[in-house]
Amino acid sequence: MSDHEPTITPPSEASLAATSAQAALPTQARPRPKRGELSFAAPRVGKPPQHLADLDPDERRTAVEALGHKGFRARQLSTHYFERLVESPQEMSDLPKAIREDLVARLLPRLLTPVRTLEADKGTTIKSVYRLHDGALIESVLMRYPKRVTICISSQAGCGMNCPFCATGQEGLTRNMSTAEIVGQVVQAARLLRHGEVAGGAEGSPLRVSNVVFMGMGEALANYNAAVGAIRRMIDPAPDGLGMSARGITMSTVGLVPAMDKLTKEGIPLTLALSLHAPDDKLRDELVPINTRWSVDEAIDAAYRYFEVTGRRVSIEYALIRGMNDQGWRADLLGTKLNARGRGWVHVNPIPLNPTPGSRWTASEPGVEREFVRRLRALGVPTTVRDTRGSDIDGACGQLAAATA
Ligand code: SAH
Repeated sequence: MSDHEPTITPPSEASLAATSAQAALPTQARPRPKRGELSFAAPRVGKPPQHLADLDPDERRTAVEALGHKGFRARQLSTHYFERLVESPQEMSDLPKAIREDLVARLLPRLLTPVRTLEADKGTTIKSVYRLHDGALIESVLMRYPKRVTICISSQAGCGMNCPFCATGQEGLTRNMSTAEIVGQVVQAARLLRHGEVAGGAEGSPLRVSNVVFMGMGEALANYNAAVGAIRRMIDPAPDGLGMSARGITMSTVGLVPAMDKLTKEGIPLTLALSLHAPDDKLRDELVPINTRWSVDEAIDAAYRYFEVTGRRVSIEYALIRGMNDQGWRADLLGTKLNARGRGWVHVNPIPLNPTPGSRWTASEPGVEREFVRRLRALGVPTTVRDTRGSDIDGACGQLAAATA
């Protein structure tokens, strides 16, 4: 165990050149963020077309009536989209032919155009790359396990939080996604499952998306309204929404304290994950630059308030980076800080770093990882190493960079 603190070196020029060459689309031709630079305000761009999934059931009715149709058509459209998972007018035989095209064009425009689909882990992991209406690229990853299906979704094209170990962070923020663009990823995944396009799973296991994690591209709490709107669409009972359980949804954040507190007040029993990655401000300032606004202690306190109010156990994400944040004393400090707030309110999810192109960093040695976990458990903190799926298709945590253009 060494206590020395290696310094962070910015990516090499060569890797910078490679990344900008890949970012060939107009919306992505943007300088990479400078070290530590944060961006909250997404560049102003044309809004995506309005979609049924942007609206709550009352607003849908109003929108349908404003188009000159009967209000009850809104529910029919919702049933097609959220329950039957269809969006082509030919499949909507309960709607008069004369108005189908119009309703679909106005309320179910295609927002996500599949660009590429990549499979890993014998077809049980599927990464989908989508192009948005303005050319921005986003990705989501579907993972099928014997008893659950998890989709990791994006909430922004790019990300403004600039964590130096994360591929998306290096790309900068292109723009916020809309509610319908966010929830559309889950609908697409539900379609793949329904059409039997995902391998694996136990015989007869239900083919539904059971878990959603906001761990794809973007900082969802920096796009708060759209993200919470998407969550509402996911948990609203069919046909208003997808009818999922809120408990299966995980909101992951760098620790935007005011937004965490706002989420606490929504009263939705989600799981909250805090991407901590270091228990001390000195290192976290570098690894998670938002720490210069809200410190380790402030972020942990906000996570604890979330637990206090919702009763939902919080997750602490900790990417183990070799020689950087994996020292035994940091495990002890982390455990001590968590225990100082209370017991049974939190668990830690260490995850071996998925190396990103151009980065000198790599995952901790297995023995070091084991020791880190052992120390946390010795302090009574439940700790589970997260499995990494899809690293060979750049589909693992922190690897989503949409470099497919
Ligand atoms: N903005 C959100 C979601 C980001 S991705 C957040 O920061 O929480 C979800 C998780 O993957 C975060 O914990 C993030 O820090 C982690 N992550 C990013 N890059 C990674 C990498 N290269 N290897 C392992 N985990 C990484």
